[in-house]
Amino acid sequence: MTKGLRYTGPIYRPPSEANSLLVQATIGCPWNKCTFCMVYKNGPKFKIRLVNEIKEDLLWAKQNYNLAFNTVFFPSGNTIIMKTEDFVEILKYTKKLFPNLERITIYGSAQYIVKKGLDDLKKIAKAGLSRIHVGLESGDDIVLKHVKKGSSSDIQIKAGKLVKKAGIELSEYIILGLGGKKRTKEHIKETVKALNKINPDFIRIRTFLPKMNTPILEEIQSGAFQILSPHEVLQETYNLIKGLNVTSQLFSDHYTNYICVNGKLPEERDTMLLAIETALTRDEKSFREVFIGTE
Ligand code: SF4
Repeated sequence: MTKGLRYTGPIYRPPSEANSLLVQATIGCPWNKCTFCMVYKNGPKFKIRLVNEIKEDLLWAKQNYNLAFNTVFFPSGNTIIMKTEDFVEILKYTKKLFPNLERITIYGSAQYIVKKGLDDLKKIAKAGLSRIHVGLESGDDIVLKHVKKGSSSDIQIKAGKLVKKAGIELSEYIILGLGGKKRTKEHIKETVKALNKINPDFIRIRTFLPKMNTPILEEIQSGAFQILSPHEVLQETYNLIKGLNVTSQLFSDHYTNYICVNGKLPEERDTMLLAIETALTRDEKSFREVFIGTE
């Protein structure tokens, strides 16, 4: 029996899972090529954990944490890749240990969701998975290819629709400014198109902020990629929200964003647009530094 909850590598989870029990089902990311992401670039190497080990950790949490949480998140980068029968076993065990859980969630990239297919996603949903967090990042194929996301807009749309059809909540992440100055228009236009086709439950916006040692930072330093100014990012945010024809909850629950706009679409669209219009009247110097540079 384990003497504590084991965890390998950086702890990374959506802000909405801040109060969740984190039990690793996988370690690292099987893709690990996105040029803007440093989370697992220095390791650990991707690995799917043994079912028995995961169960031991869940049991340890049950015996030691005295139900101080009501949601569970299974890191790391792409738990959707786990064999369906194994993941179903873990989900059933989790529900048995914690029958009053409100939510069980994971990260999943579009290419692996599509590979999983509808039948398996339905099995996973039935066993208890409530929500998948997916990095759409952009709906523009050129941006997706440039940042080596490993999926096209079509794959992203297909994956999003599959998740919803399986009865699992879908949280899509967008990175404002990921197209740089060159593709700012297309980045937003195509992202709006993709999101309108998917209609996810949640849209979470982040602002591109180059991380130390990432390939995309080298492009910025060489001048090949030009980072957007605060006003340009706010304009992207405005155009995104204006163009969305969805029934999603939008969150900007991240420190990278210049302002915080949250709201239900379409009901709170005008309020959010007004907040952005007001922010656009502020001097750009009043926002955070474009490049923080220490991460
Ligand atoms: S799929 Fe996610 S965790 Fe993996 S490299 Fe890309 S952004 Fe990072």
